[in-house]
Amino acid sequence: MAITPLMPVYPRSPVRPVRGEGVYLYGEGGEQYLDFASGIAVNILGHNHPHLTKAIQEQTATLMHVSNLYGSPQGEALAQRLVDATFADTVFFTNSGVEAIECAIKTARRYHHHHGRPEKNVLISFRNAFHGRSMAAISATDQPKMIEGFAPLLPGFTVVEFDNLEAAEAAVDENTAGFLVEPVQGEGGIRPASREFLQGLRRICDAQDLMLIFDEIQCGVARSGTFFAYEQFGIEPDIMTIAKGIGGGFPLGACLASEKAAAGMVIGTHGSTYGGNPLAMAAGQAVLDVVLQPEFLDHVQRMGDRLRGALEQMIPNHDHLFESVRGLGLMLGVKMKTDSRAFVTYLRDHGLLTVAGGDNVMRVLPPLTIEEQHVTEFVEKLSEAARHY
Ligand code: PLP
Repeated sequence: MAITPLMPVYPRSPVRPVRGEGVYLYGEGGEQYLDFASGIAVNILGHNHPHLTKAIQEQTATLMHVSNLYGSPQGEALAQRLVDATFADTVFFTNSGVEAIECAIKTARRYHHHHGRPEKNVLISFRNAFHGRSMAAISATDQPKMIEGFAPLLPGFTVVEFDNLEAAEAAVDENTAGFLVEPVQGEGGIRPASREFLQGLRRICDAQDLMLIFDEIQCGVARSGTFFAYEQFGIEPDIMTIAKGIGGGFPLGACLASEKAAAGMVIGTHGSTYGGNPLAMAAGQAVLDVVLQPEFLDHVQRMGDRLRGALEQMIPNHDHLFESVRGLGLMLGVKMKTDSRAFVTYLRDHGLLTVAGGDNVMRVLPPLTIEEQHVTEFVEKLSEAARHY
């Protein structure tokens, strides 16, 4: 069979959205979908949010791209806002999550190089993690479906069991540069790490001068109910990657670092033609205008509690399908007793979009702007589907 014009690396669904409005997507024939997938945790303001759309339109008509050869008032302004709201002192902007991961890995290695310990170049990462699809990112995972056929993987990564502090500690040796961890594993099935685990990693890093990298590409930017998930664990990372929600649908990511962690990232060590372009910065600013409003995080927490409560209430009525609910804020996972992929497909065919995840989980990742009526509609549609499945 002839290859398709789009490289056939995705099992694409027959749903072909052409328009979005708020929490809804519309297909070519006008069919409506309630979107509790948000483009895999990206469209945090829903579709066609007036403030985000206007900001992008206006910036398009003003200035889209000049490269990083010139000063960037737009980049400085967004970086300052992220610095003010987080542990970080400095920001490198990227166009995707995996590029932020590359920057984080390079920053951690450069830190030790800068201090005269180039042998400290191995990052410890965790089973069922997902950090993206570059060679470095797939080298930081042990998932066969992502690495098969791509050998040789990059050296400098050791994968150990997630949420197991003893395993993490035992893996540290004279070559360890630090840890790379999702505070809440997303792709791996919405698994929040325990407080003890993350605090333990922080302690090890403090004691041995190692870098703690948090990958908040999926759980960050208010999805977990706080601006960043790390705030709920009582510790701060040295380096953090973000993407997805920060652009609200515009391709934007960032690697944030403390001044200490960024010691080696001097002129010429890293770069990106498009990274931090004025158009992406305008999108990021518009998203933060909404997310940093005082009541926004309360709203996410309230909606998260409501949705979680409603899902938990459903379980006894459909205990042949659902086992448990887990997650933080509006990053929820329903552990299934039946095949989650098949169930997510069935929901899709009945107008409800969710995402399958690892560990046989259905990921529920709505826009953070949902209202009670959307929770009610979701639960009604899900119950109806569960009754007939
Ligand atoms: N890290 C995490 C936690 C993710 O969830 C993802 C994407 O799903 C990535 C990294 C990779 O991001 P991107 O697909 O934008 O490269």
